[in-house]
Amino acid sequence: MKYVAGVDIGNATTEVALAKIEDDEIEFLASGIGPTTGIKGTLQNINGVFKSLKSALDKVGLDYSDLKEIRINEAAPVIGDVAMETISQTVITDSTVIGHNPATPGGTGVGVGVSVLVDELKKITEPEDVIVIVPAAVGFEKAAEMMNAARDNVNITGAILQEDDGTLLNNRLNKKIPIIDEVRMIEKVPLGLQCAIEVAPIGSVIHTLSNPYGIATVFNLSAQETQRVVPIARSLIGDRSGVVIKTASGDIKAHTVPAGSITITGDKKEVIVNVDEGADKIMEAVSSVTDIQNIRGEKGTNVGNMLDKVRRVMANLTDKKKRDIMIQDILAVDTFNPQKVIGGVADEFAMENAVGIAAMVKADRLQMEQIAGNLTEKLGVPVYVGGVEADMAIKGALTTPGTSVPLAIVDMGAGSTDASIINREGKVKLIHLAGAGDMVSLLIQTELGLESFDIAEDVKRYTLAKVESLFHIRHEDGTVQFFNKPLDPNIFAKTVLVKENGDLFPLEGQDSLERVRKVRQEAKRKVFVRNAVRALSMVSPTGNPKDIQFVVLVGGSALDFEIPNFVTDALSELDIVAGRGNIRGCEGPRNAVATGLALACLTPLGLDF
Ligand code: ADP
Ligand code: MG
Repeated sequence: MKYVAGVDIGNATTEVALAKIEDDEIEFLASGIGPTTGIKGTLQNINGVFKSLKSALDKVGLDYSDLKEIRINEAAPVIGDVAMETISQTVITDSTVIGHNPATPGGTGVGVGVSVLVDELKKITEPEDVIVIVPAAVGFEKAAEMMNAARDNVNITGAILQEDDGTLLNNRLNKKIPIIDEVRMIEKVPLGLQCAIEVAPIGSVIHTLSNPYGIATVFNLSAQETQRVVPIARSLIGDRSGVVIKTASGDIKAHTVPAGSITITGDKKEVIVNVDEGADKIMEAVSSVTDIQNIRGEKGTNVGNMLDKVRRVMANLTDKKKRDIMIQDILAVDTFNPQKVIGGVADEFAMENAVGIAAMVKADRLQMEQIAGNLTEKLGVPVYVGGVEADMAIKGALTTPGTSVPLAIVDMGAGSTDASIINREGKVKLIHLAGAGDMVSLLIQTELGLESFDIAEDVKRYTLAKVESLFHIRHEDGTVQFFNKPLDPNIFAKTVLVKENGDLFPLEGQDSLERVRKVRQEAKRKVFVRNAVRALSMVSPTGNPKDIQFVVLVGGSALDFEIPNFVTDALSELDIVAGRGNIRGCEGPRNAVATGLALACLTPLGLDF
């Protein structure tokens, strides 16, 4: 009888499976879990291994010295670094788009007309549709008076106010109109130009100005002009109100910024692709190269710097030369990066096109041997490098009730998405790909402009709600929850994350729940659906993912409330049955690699210790 442990050092988590082996029979005793210390595949990992091992040993009253053997994974170190290349730039001259979300706009609907100062109304002689501009100095009572007194030929279709008086003004008007208030820099709104405003009904978001064809309709735009307003429409998605002002043609320009190139070197050929061609083109290039040896980015560009940084960090951590560090895979994703509009009048932001890139460094068995040697010394227990992760993961995944060979798994972790497949003869094929949970959080962080990665991580994990009164919230699925005690007034009318135990965490500056939700879901799809299909194509015996029948999803990201569903959905279109694993019938999607490593202890390594 002997006690053994499998230890999986991941990018994010170090997991342990503790087992007892007696005459070729294995019995699992406990699992351990803790954060990985340092970058995966480096000596800094040892602290995390100690802690996770101890958490498992403590559960069954054992000590390190009771262990006869420990196996660790042959980790593919991944640096979860993501570069953002902004590849478009919106320049507005002499014009404006105000994507505005005042707390209490007045009225609802769309208004189109020429922008006119409220005290100039009386000067209008020809019949005209107008949008009235009301500076703070005028005040809502005076403004209402002037608007009501306007001549019959003036058709007031909307108003833009500097103060927070939208409702007060509308209450005093004979004819109700959509009103946008709290436009602080009202003096910058150009006068005498065609202008459209939209206010959505309470609880809804605008539909006309957030749609390029909507803007085209109100301003009578040509196809070419419509193309140019796409960034404007995008920047208004999810807002409750917005203003778009039409400028002389050619005033709004969205142009492409050169972003450098990526060179992918395989064993047979080399392919160069420009980053500004977008993620699809980059990924096409990556998949056109078999057996990738190295990936480099053009010097002096963001992507060049990012890939170089990955090499430098890895070289420092592993005592190697930078040129000996090879990048094995990248995942490119199209995204948006909020950037200040050049020439805007009210600090508007446009969602510029950007490409996010995650990179992965080639696995190095020697490094793991170093960790194993160091651990052996410190613990006094033989520690072996027990096998490649994806290989071990499949062993572990097969402990999911109802599974058998042939089977494929997709291990969705923090830094990499790994896939492997086992055929009837027990032969395993595997692949490690860049991009996983960290990339999702990073995309969420940039697209929403969140101040920290941790908040983005929470946006990924928790569902949303809107605090509609001090006594009730509306969850993102539409259900309403009531409270006996008043909620904290600080979260009133805010979009909040619903955390464990129902704790509500406000997302400052994120007025639109719909937008946060959309960004969250798209980030998950962009990373995991793409990577699952990519990974399965690579391990499929025919190169076609359709030839795989059963897939088990494992890893921390399989715990997500949406990701497994998105992947299952996408794979079902390829006639693949996919679902979340349940390791050993009790661990859910976690602990697959650690369980596989412990199972591997049943077969001797044949290594001299
Ligand atoms: P690794 O093997 O790379 O250490 P894990 O399998 O531990 O990775 O998965 C870590 C990833 O899983 C992280 O990106 C983390 O955000 C994500 N994750 C962990 N728990 C959850 C959860 N409950 N919901 C969604 N994502 C989760
Ligand atoms: Mg893992």
